[in-house]
Amino acid sequence: MDRIITRFAPSPTGYLHLGSIRTALINYIISKKAKQKFPNSKFLLRIEDTDKLRSNEKYSENIISGLNWLGIQWDEEIIYQSQRFSRHKEIALSLLKFNLAFKCVCTSEELEFKRKLNEKKNISIKRLCDKCENNKNIQLLENNYCIRIKIPNEPRTLIKDLIQGNVEIKNKELDNFILLRQDNTPTYMLSVVVDDHDMNVNTIIRGNDHFNNAFRHIQIYKHLGWKIPQYAHLPLIHGEDGSKLSKRHGAVDINKLKNIGYLPKAIINNLILLGWSPKKDKEIIDIEEIIKKFEIQNLSKSSSIFDYKKLKYFNNYYIQEVNGFDYLEKFINSEGSTKQYLIKDKDKIKIIFETYKDKIKTLNEFIDIINIYLDEEFVVKNNNILDKNFKILVSLFLTNLQKIEVWKNDELDLCLKTFISEKKIKFSSFGKPLRYILTKNVVGPPIISIFLILGKENTLIRMNKYINS
Ligand code: GLU
Repeated sequence: MDRIITRFAPSPTGYLHLGSIRTALINYIISKKAKQKFPNSKFLLRIEDTDKLRSNEKYSENIISGLNWLGIQWDEEIIYQSQRFSRHKEIALSLLKFNLAFKCVCTSEELEFKRKLNEKKNISIKRLCDKCENNKNIQLLENNYCIRIKIPNEPRTLIKDLIQGNVEIKNKELDNFILLRQDNTPTYMLSVVVDDHDMNVNTIIRGNDHFNNAFRHIQIYKHLGWKIPQYAHLPLIHGEDGSKLSKRHGAVDINKLKNIGYLPKAIINNLILLGWSPKKDKEIIDIEEIIKKFEIQNLSKSSSIFDYKKLKYFNNYYIQEVNGFDYLEKFINSEGSTKQYLIKDKDKIKIIFETYKDKIKTLNEFIDIINIYLDEEFVVKNNNILDKNFKILVSLFLTNLQKIEVWKNDELDLCLKTFISEKKIKFSSFGKPLRYILTKNVVGPPIISIFLILGKENTLIRMNKYINS
């Protein structure tokens, strides 16, 4: 092989989700890696929009923008499978012409009836249509038939899968599946092979749920004398309860992940470590290093568990990176509700970011925090943690704070410590309610950090509001 051509071939029947992002990511990585040795290698994108009822343009758009957002960049123009129907039909007809396929008139009811009968007799016959192939009249029909593949008599079909290893099945286990339906539309089995061949795809990496289909696809490749690609079927991702990853495990689609404030780097880092590790127990790994180290053969055969705690851990790590504030800025701009604050007081938002970033798991957590600090109408309701004595203490402390000219860490720290020791009170019994009247939360960053975020004027306003309430 002098180049590796991979592809991601999603059906636009739903939003891009974690499982398919992982498939796209691994295809992307493999082609990027191959490019270093074989510069003509490529990663292609094909939208398999053949199911007219379930496909929707909004999903295609979501897949495309999602991949862009993640930085999973494909080469060349996107191929839309629905625009290639005539080519698929042409191939089905040529298979028919060369006696590698046959016309079939069985109705689905007839076939279902046979299947049930076989089931009762406890026999497993995969080729339910057995009357059409050798019926001359049917084979002479001009219309009202579908085209089914003829399965060769070779006893077995072998797949040397890069992940699953060598797997062999008996050909009699394969059904004589439909290539072209009666309404002249191609089936997935046919389209996928024709498109992969025409796009020169020689490395097919996809979910394990397609493994059984690969044995069928190979029959078409063989009939046409086309080179069979190498296969790698990825084990599926499961939720923590062991079932297939779905909505009920948390956000799985790209819109949700983006809206909650997960970063592409965290998603990529997390997904690539499912069933693979770069050795040396290293968990933080960026895309460049992944491309250098990733080997598909080292991917585990068994399914992996997706753990949201881990995703949050990575997200928190990347939020704290040098350019972390840029992520927040972009997030605020796309989220909208606090955009006015960003325009008005970016510096304050920067201080909030620096103060909170080590605790923040997802960017949306910042939105509430920003709203608390920048809300000009901020008021706290009386609460059982705020007793009368506290109000007196706050009034006294306010007088001390007012005198501070330089509103900086050391000056504020000295003022607070002096006050606490003079009044002989415990720090926490003063700090907690004070934090509450400034942020509506008894827990949070150190009081001095809160003073610094609010600034002198706002700190005093909030304290006064409380005193006068
Ligand atoms: N369109 C198929 C899907 O979304 C994938 C086909 C393939 O990779 O061969 O499941």
